[in-house]
Amino acid sequence: MRTTCPYCGVGCGVIAARDDAGRWTAKGDPDHPANLGRLCSKGSALGETLGLDDRLLAPRVNGQETGWDSALSLVAQRFTDAIAAHGPDSVAFYVSGQLLTEDYYVANKLMKGFIGSANIDTNSRLCMASSVAGHKRAFGSDTVPGLYTDLEEADLVVLTGSNLAWCHPVLFQRLAAAKAARPGLRVVTIDPRRTATTELGDLHLALKPGSDVALFNGLLAHLHEVGAIDAGFVGAHVSGFDAALDAARNDPPATTGLSEADLAAFYALWARTEKVVTVYSQGVNQSSSGSDKVNAILNCHLATGRIGKPGMGPFSVTGQPNAMGGREVGGLANMLACHLDIENAEHRAAVRDFWDAPTIATQPGLKAVDMFRAVADGRIKALWIIHTNPAVSMPEADAVRDAIAGCDFVVVSDITARNDTARLADVLLPASAWGEKDGTVTNSERCISRQRAFLPARGQARPDWAILAEIGRRMGFVRAFDYETPAEIFREYAALSGIAGKLGRDFDISALSDLSDAEYEALSPVRWPVTAARTGGRFFGDGRFFTPDGRARMLPLRSRAPAQVPDAEHPFVLNTGRVRDHWHTMTRTALSPRLSAHLAEPFLELHPEDALALGLKSAELAEVTTTRGRAVLRVMVTDRVRKGEVFAPMHWTGETASHGRIDALVPAITDPVSGQPESKAAPCAIAPLPVA
Ligand code: SF4
Repeated sequence: MRTTCPYCGVGCGVIAARDDAGRWTAKGDPDHPANLGRLCSKGSALGETLGLDDRLLAPRVNGQETGWDSALSLVAQRFTDAIAAHGPDSVAFYVSGQLLTEDYYVANKLMKGFIGSANIDTNSRLCMASSVAGHKRAFGSDTVPGLYTDLEEADLVVLTGSNLAWCHPVLFQRLAAAKAARPGLRVVTIDPRRTATTELGDLHLALKPGSDVALFNGLLAHLHEVGAIDAGFVGAHVSGFDAALDAARNDPPATTGLSEADLAAFYALWARTEKVVTVYSQGVNQSSSGSDKVNAILNCHLATGRIGKPGMGPFSVTGQPNAMGGREVGGLANMLACHLDIENAEHRAAVRDFWDAPTIATQPGLKAVDMFRAVADGRIKALWIIHTNPAVSMPEADAVRDAIAGCDFVVVSDITARNDTARLADVLLPASAWGEKDGTVTNSERCISRQRAFLPARGQARPDWAILAEIGRRMGFVRAFDYETPAEIFREYAALSGIAGKLGRDFDISALSDLSDAEYEALSPVRWPVTAARTGGRFFGDGRFFTPDGRARMLPLRSRAPAQVPDAEHPFVLNTGRVRDHWHTMTRTALSPRLSAHLAEPFLELHPEDALALGLKSAELAEVTTTRGRAVLRVMVTDRVRKGEVFAPMHWTGETASHGRIDALVPAITDPVSGQPESKAAPCAIAPLPVA
């Protein structure tokens, strides 16, 4: 069966098949354009994660198994009651990039069009919200202009804030293969840490955390100095160049901590190379100035016209399998479906009319961090969490866990009852898992692929779209949620995108709105837009953008230090991130012995000089303390981190900090534009674990 990997945003095609012993195996689909037959360690271990250990197989209310009818009636009634008593903004959905696009569409339609609130946000807020904000500010739309083949066609690939080798491994394999085949392809990596990715680079810039804006402002000033600006492109297609350049000249790159020689080498290479792709990810996005970092990168590509052409462009790679699909259907609290704007009255009216909805949210809802603050202070009376584990993965996770525990009514839909969030639910709803559900996902290069079921439904588990639609019907919206298949939902969503296209938006797949069920079943990977006039390709090479005047906008930017900086009490900077073989809070990857063998426990990377000064050796335990919490981690002494900086992975869960719940230590400080938390620069103290 052809399907799509449920882990990262590369979105690899998978062929699931039984081996001679009857076990399910996953092989790379040679015909899928994302991976051309490749898989990484996580994708190739998918067959080991399909067992029923830990599965939630029946609805539960207050810990007791019950039938669907009583569980659904209770959920619909409690949401209806909360809305009647306290208004539509007293309820919220917190959803996930694990949802399929059809699931996401129904959740968004229910909340924004029928409940009448925009209080639906997604864990993608923690992953790429700053890229969305940066795209919208520069392009007028959340459009990813590039393709994966651009990395192979470029002469210079800059990887900034991206451990591609571990977080998007197949894309990294493609880049490494291209570099091996074409030694002229240069790779520059920008990351405070040395990682498996930086080993591929010709130049590694270990910049100070948070100084990316200064680095790219310096690049913009240099490009102007050496005459590398594309004045024709800027003159015809870009606004704001002079102000952006002026701001860049007044923001010297000295704060990056990089040597003049390294800066000069990077700037000269960028200036003289026409085909440049800049790939960026969480190291850019997860910052209190994440949106500005994104726009600093976009400024350089716009100033040189290096965008939307083969081998050229900025490229945000998304973390989750369907982060992009969630963006398309309005899974973020500040967007409507199909890249329409919640603050635009014409857009709102178009969506409301299309849905024949009784109402439509008129203002952005609560973004993730604010949503859980509203849960904590009692403004949210009923909360539905779907396929995500905020009690572990949100910043200030202990406070989030307490907030969920104190909420009047909490529903959790998931495949397991054994995660920290599910344990706090009043109602647990068993959802279908990968291999059991049908729908579509969109990867980082805008390619829509089918996820297909190849396993029977397990226990009483149901697809998320079906659970959400049933709640919609039980809340009184019978006709609007009368779906029987995901194909029906996809056709409706594709038809809505045609209206968005007529309103001048980038996202339009209206040519797919009349797919038959059989055509939907057989749908091959296809990159949007998909209209009568055009399928796929790049955006912006023609100089047309989605702003009111059609011109891209360069922004004047000034670098800002992270919101919290080290002091005498917390002298180190804590950077958090992923490891190669685990995914999020390990609900699925921990089921694979092979994946669990890579790194068995959480750890703390510590520079040798710091380790010496602290009296710590590798394998000893250290206590890490921030202003928000404490964790105990096993020390890994390594010069992969800079002196004064430490790194810890974010996957491990547990009841107490001593299990390494690292997000309990991360302050919930966000970018003011995107609402994305600063997960990579928390001041912390390190000490040997006192012997009891
Ligand atoms: Fe899955 Fe990402 Fe690995 Fe591809 S690179 S197999 S999508 S985890």
